[in-house]
Amino acid sequence: MTANEIIAKKRDGLTLTAGEIRFFISAYVDGSIPDYQVSAWLMAVYLRGMDARETSTLTQVMLDSGARIDLRDIPGSKIDKHSTGGVGDKVSLILAPLMAAAGVKVPMISGRSLGHTGGTLDKLESIPGFRTGMTPAAFHDQVRDIGVAMIGQNDELVPADRRIYALRDSTATVASIPLITASILSKKLAEGIDGLVMDIKCGKGAFMPEISRAEALAQSIIRTAALHGLPTVAVITDMNQPLGYAAGNWLEVREVLQALQGHGPEDLMQVTYALGVQMLLLAGFQGTTREAVSLLQRTISSGLAMTRFQQMVQAQGGDVHCLQDPGGFAGARIQQHLRAGRTGFVTGIDALKIGEAVVLLGGGRKTLDDQIDPAVGILLGKKVGDEVNKGEILAVIHANQTGTAREAIEMICSAFTIDTAPVLKTRPILKIIKS
Ligand code: URA
Repeated sequence: MTANEIIAKKRDGLTLTAGEIRFFISAYVDGSIPDYQVSAWLMAVYLRGMDARETSTLTQVMLDSGARIDLRDIPGSKIDKHSTGGVGDKVSLILAPLMAAAGVKVPMISGRSLGHTGGTLDKLESIPGFRTGMTPAAFHDQVRDIGVAMIGQNDELVPADRRIYALRDSTATVASIPLITASILSKKLAEGIDGLVMDIKCGKGAFMPEISRAEALAQSIIRTAALHGLPTVAVITDMNQPLGYAAGNWLEVREVLQALQGHGPEDLMQVTYALGVQMLLLAGFQGTTREAVSLLQRTISSGLAMTRFQQMVQAQGGDVHCLQDPGGFAGARIQQHLRAGRTGFVTGIDALKIGEAVVLLGGGRKTLDDQIDPAVGILLGKKVGDEVNKGEILAVIHANQTGTAREAIEMICSAFTIDTAPVLKTRPILKIIKS
């Protein structure tokens, strides 16, 4: 079959054979099928879907496009966590060193910003000098020595995901259950882990706004992971409002530092601990949930998690002085305050609009080749459920261009809903699904 025939077959809603999927993806990675044909195929998959067998084959083929890391000689459990993508979602940066400090090895291959959602790699790269590229051998050694390494896909590791991920971002084909499943699991299976905890984001700022779709994605990931022998737990978490107060790469790193010092925002820490507990359980922890949370809290208050984060930053070429004195980092030139126009209660902060405003400011990508501005972003002054007085700060916009700052402020203003009647604070953990 030709590439054209494979595209037509999926366009017409037919099921692709393993051979067809393997041919198509391998030919894309070796350069014999161009971006425009893969874009058409991605749209066909987005619209027509894939069954469980096709999804599993796509995962395997993407995994086979690069090396698979073997960590079996390193003692202890290797457990990773991955998020389907959100706004202000800096959990990985806290959780990976936290788990390493608690004795679980975390070999993490992450992604860049996708659509309106932030990317772990972009956040890490806002630390001057931080390298997210590494050979499989160096990755192995860092996991052995420090217990944690955080890197991206490259020519050696899941190159198929690296190329398809970027293409999906610019062809409106991100929010597809089989494509997300294969993208995430190809990376996770390449890491050589023993277990995976998925943070499935659900709500306005997630790729799966409805709980039924979030559950379907969780089931797809758990089922596909099981077919590949990887025990996986999914935690569905709220993404109607941004997580924590910061959205934007360097601003999020600053919030991570506060969290590692024991001063993280409540919702951010609830998600971090909920995922951390599941990671500990997959690693064989025998205690109760309460004991697991208390272990994680102690690992933060003792400073061990922060030390592990600093060790990782140093090992990956990042400037640790910047972490000790984050105020020394040259921030954005413009800081504009958005103030409440009325007194009342914050009843909504639309995470999608906040994410889009960060992209507009330059903190995310509109096209494949866009450079990220690490300094820009938004610091919320209020969260859903908070009382607010007229004139109080709702958000501070960090921008480097006057025009985009003005546009962003309008978007952020429209993201806030203020009512006279109070609402309850939202619970960030919606559901836990185990296989
Ligand atoms: N994270 C990924 O790695 N891939 C996706 O498709 C979405 C989120």
